Amino acid sequence: MNNRNIWEKVTQKKVKDIDKFSAEYIDFISDNKTERECCDAGVQMLEEAGYVELSKVIKAGRKLKAGDKIYTTQMNKSIAAFHIGKRPLTEGLNILGAHIDSPRLDIKQNPLYEDGGFTLLDTHYYGGVKKYQWVTIPLAIHGVVVKKDGSITEINIGEDADDPVFFISDLLIHLAQKQMEKKASEVIEGEALDVIIGNMPLKESKDKETKDAVKGNILKLLKSQYDIDEEDFESAELEVVPAGRAREAGIDRSMILGYGHDDRVCAYPSLRALIDTPTCERTTCAILVDKEEIGSVGATGMRSRFFANAVAEIINLSTDNYSDILLSRCMANSYMLSSDVNAGFDPTYADKFEKKNASYLGNGMALIKFTGSRGKSGSNDANAEYIAKLRNILDKSGVIYQTAELGKVDIGGGGTIAYILALYGMNVIDCGIAVLNMHAPWEAISKADLYETYLGYKTFLKDIE
Ligand code: MN
Ligand code: MN
Repeated sequence: MNNRNIWEKVTQKKVKDIDKFSAEYIDFISDNKTERECCDAGVQMLEEAGYVELSKVIKAGRKLKAGDKIYTTQMNKSIAAFHIGKRPLTEGLNILGAHIDSPRLDIKQNPLYEDGGFTLLDTHYYGGVKKYQWVTIPLAIHGVVVKKDGSITEINIGEDADDPVFFISDLLIHLAQKQMEKKASEVIEGEALDVIIGNMPLKESKDKETKDAVKGNILKLLKSQYDIDEEDFESAELEVVPAGRAREAGIDRSMILGYGHDDRVCAYPSLRALIDTPTCERTTCAILVDKEEIGSVGATGMRSRFFANAVAEIINLSTDNYSDILLSRCMANSYMLSSDVNAGFDPTYADKFEKKNASYLGNGMALIKFTGSRGKSGSNDANAEYIAKLRNILDKSGVIYQTAELGKVDIGGGGTIAYILALYGMNVIDCGIAVLNMHAPWEAISKADLYETYLGYKTFLKDIE
């Protein structure tokens, strides 16, 4: 039920558990800021827990049995992991699905230029951002550069204490009279999000006059330090993200301020819940996907057939007579929690929330049936029977949860991956953690909600049927 604060009745033992899990989560999101980094870290966690790559099982021609653990990845950006249960797969899966992409600035394919003595990188923002929030803060660059020969250079600059950071300039207040009159969406325009990366020209050469010497110097450094040529930006995926680690917030240390809680704050406990839950009656599953923030598009987004193909392979490895009808039955009989964040009630903007149906930081895992805008457009609008089942198992396990919607009616709305899995006819509801300042460079969550949601996810995997 709503309005039960976790901290009010928490035991000393549970505070310890909350702190331990939160510290592990802080490491995870500080070390992994892009979908590729989260995918790599996820694979490492799965392998350490005994999960085996799907293609290896296929190659070995081995049949799957209860207790087997399998995972597969899609282009190093998405993961589907399965822990085979005791019952036939046609009875359905218990699925936790989260996304591992977060709003950020992507470096364009032809990004590099010199102006006014600076070298800059042109960017294109990814996902819904308030552009004015991204100027004048320390930024890091993460990603890969793939050369024509297929070799991959991994880039991560700005995270170590002695790394340089980058920044986007903003007009000084003294000259900003006109700028300050603009609408917030226009104060900083998309094309003004250019990252300053250098200010030192090449050493003067006697033989020739050097044009664009500051850019020339950066190119020289890129060549010597990373073996990257200017053209290599064409086949790079470089993401500009806030530099620095997530940290505890508040004198009471009750919260975590970090980049990209949306949606790694659900992805991490989803994966942990899968790994930490013993073999169940039903097959359990966690999906971590890319591209949610731009509409779940592309081969690594939830709308790709990647997940259905993986389930088909799993069924094929579990039976002697695969047919598509088995896949249809498995999907339709599945239950899913679309593990995604919700807007946390913010007292400074209280009029944007309807207080009885808002999620509060500290009040536990949020079940969100009404995410959409206007007349619930884009909502999961989960079935009452399904929500009743969830209430039953969560209450039995003592998991503290709240029901909520994403802000007041007619104020806005948001989408998740829920509707895509619902296409298979399975029961789906959004279920995750309340976030303050969602999509800002630094977002805030409650440590208690993080741990409670992890407990809720474990209960879901084990008990829903
Ligand atoms: Mn999200
Ligand atoms: Mn989002």
